[in-house]
Amino acid sequence: MNNVIENIQNSYLLWKEYPVSQRIEIIKEIRDKLLKNTELYAKAITSDMGKPISQSIAEVKKCAYLCDYYIENSENFLKPQQIKTKWTESYITFEPIGVLLGVMPWNFPFWQVFRFVIPNLILGNIFVVKHASNVPKSADLLETIFNSDKLKFPIYKNLFLESKFVADIIAHKHIKGVSLTGSEPAGRAIAQCAGQHLKKSVLELGGSAAFIVCEDADLELAVSTAVNARMQNAGQSCIAAKRFLVHENLKEKFLSLFKLKVEALKKGDKFDLNTEIGEMAREDLAIELEKLVNESISLGAKLICGGKREGSFYEPTILSEVTPEMPVFKEETFGPVAAVTFFKTFDEAVTLSNLSDFGLGVSVFSKDVEFIKSQTYRFEEGAVYINEMLISDPHLPFGGVKNSGYGRELSQFGMYEFANIKTVVIK
Ligand code: NDP
Repeated sequence: MNNVIENIQNSYLLWKEYPVSQRIEIIKEIRDKLLKNTELYAKAITSDMGKPISQSIAEVKKCAYLCDYYIENSENFLKPQQIKTKWTESYITFEPIGVLLGVMPWNFPFWQVFRFVIPNLILGNIFVVKHASNVPKSADLLETIFNSDKLKFPIYKNLFLESKFVADIIAHKHIKGVSLTGSEPAGRAIAQCAGQHLKKSVLELGGSAAFIVCEDADLELAVSTAVNARMQNAGQSCIAAKRFLVHENLKEKFLSLFKLKVEALKKGDKFDLNTEIGEMAREDLAIELEKLVNESISLGAKLICGGKREGSFYEPTILSEVTPEMPVFKEETFGPVAAVTFFKTFDEAVTLSNLSDFGLGVSVFSKDVEFIKSQTYRFEEGAVYINEMLISDPHLPFGGVKNSGYGRELSQFGMYEFANIKTVVIK
């Protein structure tokens, strides 16, 4: 492992001398590979972790979209910024810090890696990546995608190792920062280790986003969006809506429409383009989810539909009458389970939303957009989406507060997390 890191450090010394414009040429090549081989890459994602092929294709295309965003904007983000001071001249430059370690998950095996790697490559940083152990095909492909024949040196290397060895990598003198997307326990372990070695870390951990449906919401829009927000990727997304907070006067209408749409989701062969809901990534994750559902039912939650597991396939499920004491409310349900709770007033909805230990984002559905805009400050979240599900977009910063982690990815903010923001002063 030491050899890999020594070699990639040598690559860094070469890569950091490339002007931004030349680094962008390499990103264009990466983007072109994505567009040319979309299906091949999508098949690897689906076979690794089971999501329906149409969603894997969308994931690969989103990575190309991210490349385009940074191809277009990076020179602007990275140009020196003049600042007026008492001195003759003063300005800021944005410089790389070195080799970064990525510890990456399996739920979006391409997207999560791309959103970390692309802006940092353009900045001049370079990578070793430890992927989740259940996505080896995606991991192999990513190494070929990021490395270019036009360069005589690698800019990205996979580390195939067990998670217990990650601490040794963080401790290595050439590793200058670490970014994790994953669970809260993994986040705590990595933050502790990074802190001990004074290395910068960015943590993108779980979420238990509320999806608030106010009394005046467009119900058809809210429910159609709710299905997608919860069931996409078989619910295995940090920003998926997990807790549905619905005004009590909408109870019957909301539940019947939600059930209708959830039951209509097409199940089937994961390689069939028409399949909408697939198996979960691993059977142990489905078993864990089943436990949370059963415990919540035993505490009084009402099963509206679903609730059965077959191997790693967990039926799309709706639970109603959920209270804050139940596991499906308190914990992150990383699978296709919607927990529905009813509220009387908007204040109550805000309180319920903020009860979560996570703080990645919240969606609010209401026709009174001006009122909701005036209330966004009350949510302890990294994002508030009005009449829309939480969705990451390269133009906008992405990240959480509370136990959802710290730091931001995407946009210009994501580009500066692992930058040496250097001050230059001339008397
Ligand atoms: P983990 O957090 O365990 O895995 C994510 C990555 O972290 C993997 O590469 C994993 O390696 C690594 N890892 C795990 N523990 C450590 C550690 N102590 N030190 C260093 N690296 C570590 O997620 P799981 O796959 O177990 O999924 C469990 C739960 O995590 C999910 O149910 C969900 O709640 C959450 N999760 C959240 C994600 C998000 O998008 N925020 C993504 C994935 C999971 P390895 O695979 O070798 O264990």
